[in-house]
Amino acid sequence: MSAIEPYDVTVVGAGLAGALVASTLAEEGLKVVVLEATESLGGTVKHQPGLALLGTPEPFTQAVERRGDQVAHTLWELTSENLVRLEILLERCGIASEKVGSLRLAVDASQSAEFRESAAQLKQYGYDVTLEDDSRYGDQVAISTSDDLLFTPQALINKLLEHENIIVECDAEVEGVKRQLDGSIAVSAHRRYLWTRKVIFANGVHAIRFDPGLAEILHPVCVHTIVFENTGTLTRPLVLDNGHIFFVPHAQSICLTGWDSTETDILWRLSAVANQLCPNAAVRERFTSWVTIRDGAMPVVGELPGQPDVYIINGLGPFGLNLALVAADELAELVLYDRQPTLFALVEP
Ligand SMILES: Cc1cc2nc3c(=O)[nH]c(=O)nc-3n(C[C@H](O)[C@H](O)[C@H](O)COP(=O)(O)OP(=O)(O)OC[C@H]3O[C@@H](n4cnc5c(N)ncnc54)[C@H](O)[C@@H]3O)c2cc1C
Repeated sequence: MSAIEPYDVTVVGAGLAGALVASTLAEEGLKVVVLEATESLGGTVKHQPGLALLGTPEPFTQAVERRGDQVAHTLWELTSENLVRLEILLERCGIASEKVGSLRLAVDASQSAEFRESAAQLKQYGYDVTLEDDSRYGDQVAISTSDDLLFTPQALINKLLEHENIIVECDAEVEGVKRQLDGSIAVSAHRRYLWTRKVIFANGVHAIRFDPGLAEILHPVCVHTIVFENTGTLTRPLVLDNGHIFFVPHAQSICLTGWDSTETDILWRLSAVANQLCPNAAVRERFTSWVTIRDGAMPVVGELPGQPDVYIINGLGPFGLNLALVAADELAELVLYDRQPTLFALVEP
């Protein structure tokens, strides 16, 4: 047994999920250590503007088809709750945010019909959505929402981790965890070794390395981004191609991001959209990153099978900010009170 008192919780990864969970547990009085592999905090949203979306990026009718009416509706409700809580959290942390709303554009005329139906159903459920029929976007219609929130996720992550009960260590890539005879868990990280009572893997696409079984549930998807100078022509965020491409204007820049689980023609589509929406804007940066997604595009929260006190939060996907807070809370409830997750459960109950 270690002579040193173990930490209550070790969080692996200082992205948004890790920061949210660490902060909630620290607020409850637990001593938390956050180990981050890279030299800085933020994960995939490092240096990115973040758009927390109301609802799912795909048309509501598609969500209903895929998940059933009840689940699709619950998901919209959760994203709405997520936004309310995010706004409160940002205010509490003194971080600026703006209710910029967003515009989802139909891909073609046949999808326009789907959008009309989606808007009608969402209105029935009481959501503040408007159907826009605007020639600027071609013959297609668009669904406009107004509550979507724009903020700087990195600022939030930094602030959340500034807590008296949290120790953050960067350049501390976790290499393995091993249960000890005394019940504590030994965590070996780059040039570090520590003991803890519980471990939370919040390490995005790298989680699969620690439990190969996760590869059955979580699929890595490649996200391509082009950053343009913001010429100010389009000011509202746009969600295109059934949620596979999003366009987020923020301060001096515009982030155009695209992803596809099949990698078919996303780069081609992204260039086509760039030509259409930002024809004369200078490109400042291009980069590629990875996120994980699960079938049905819902986050994953739970205790790893056969590994008591080792938990995971993952699968936030390309629109992770729309459910990150509720997912982090589900995990905190599990860790603190053994309350099993419902919608985001890792293993079906
Ligand atoms: C370019 C881009 C733009 C995006 N924009 C939006 C947006 O506008 N709105 C939206 O809703 N979503 C957006 N997303 C998606 C969103 O960023 C993700 O869903 C979310 O950030 C995932 O957070 P995470 O904490 O689960 O994972 P990550 O952000 O991947 O964080 C995981 C962290 O774990 C660390 N790590 C990995 N392995 C180890 C290890 N062994 N030891 C220690 N640390 C480790 C990593 O270095 C990383 O810091 C975007 C994603 C990308 C890539």
